[in-house]
Amino acid sequence: MARRDQAHADNVDGPWFVDTRCIGCDVARHWAPSLVDMDSNGRSFIARQPQTSEETAALWRATAACPTQSIGNREAARPPVDVFPFELTSGVYALGHNSPKSFGGHSYLVVRPAGNLMVDSPRYTRGLTEAIDKLGGIEHVLLSHRDEVADADKWGSRYDARVWIHQDDADAAPYATDVTTGDQFVDEGVLSVHIPGHTKGHVAYYVDNRWLFTGDALFWNHRRQELDVTAKQTWYSWKALADSMDSIAGLNVEWVFPAHGKWHHVGEGLYARQMARLGPAMHELGQHEWSRRTHTPFVWDA
Ligand code: SF4
Repeated sequence: MARRDQAHADNVDGPWFVDTRCIGCDVARHWAPSLVDMDSNGRSFIARQPQTSEETAALWRATAACPTQSIGNREAARPPVDVFPFELTSGVYALGHNSPKSFGGHSYLVVRPAGNLMVDSPRYTRGLTEAIDKLGGIEHVLLSHRDEVADADKWGSRYDARVWIHQDDADAAPYATDVTTGDQFVDEGVLSVHIPGHTKGHVAYYVDNRWLFTGDALFWNHRRQELDVTAKQTWYSWKALADSMDSIAGLNVEWVFPAHGKWHHVGEGLYARQMARLGPAMHELGQHEWSRRTHTPFVWDA
């Protein structure tokens, strides 16, 4: 629960507030960008109180997603129960409940006739489990890389699901049932694509020839309005990440769903145009200069 005694000084007057335990993960601003702003340290505050039921719902989603439970409402203690899962496009749900173990990474549920996919792990909560039960449970837990493991062991165990990770990040999930060594099909229409760079064992999951789950490798930068990568958080190899972007540039992608950064309906045409430029631009500019560009999307080293 958010701490009233630690409310951020920049919150505007009104029932909603953010406390200063915020870690600046940007998640609240993904859900309620017109209501939540950030200070010079990347920490969030309420810039405007909601005016409509849609804006109030968006702020409740931010509240339920916040990994530090830093968003509060002085007049109502808890979010409505049906805030998450939230359907982003037909069959793909944001799960909210972002975990502090993954620095607030997003996770998703893909509902498919052959069995549902959980992509990266939210916090394990009873309420979310009940909601996932109603959507048919989980057949596969797909981990993009070591940083997004969070409570994957509990989700895998609860649903007796197969848990997937690449061998170069597999020490982070010793309970995994399936360890990939390269590009490999998880199920018909579900391909694990090895894209090293952020970590050595990072993969993307390409689903039904239109959805790309990108972990921490690629995201929609909602401030720059373009597909982007994070230079400061490239732990393994900038060159490998640039090569990885080239390797997935030819996919037909409608939506990009990252763990960190904003999801987005990019559309095949824009995806192809931007990805054709991304890898070469990364090689040309280099990691240091890339990290100095304006509109850094979130502050991981605050
Ligand atoms: S979601 Fe992230 S940025 Fe928003 S208040 Fe919570 S910790 Fe801060």
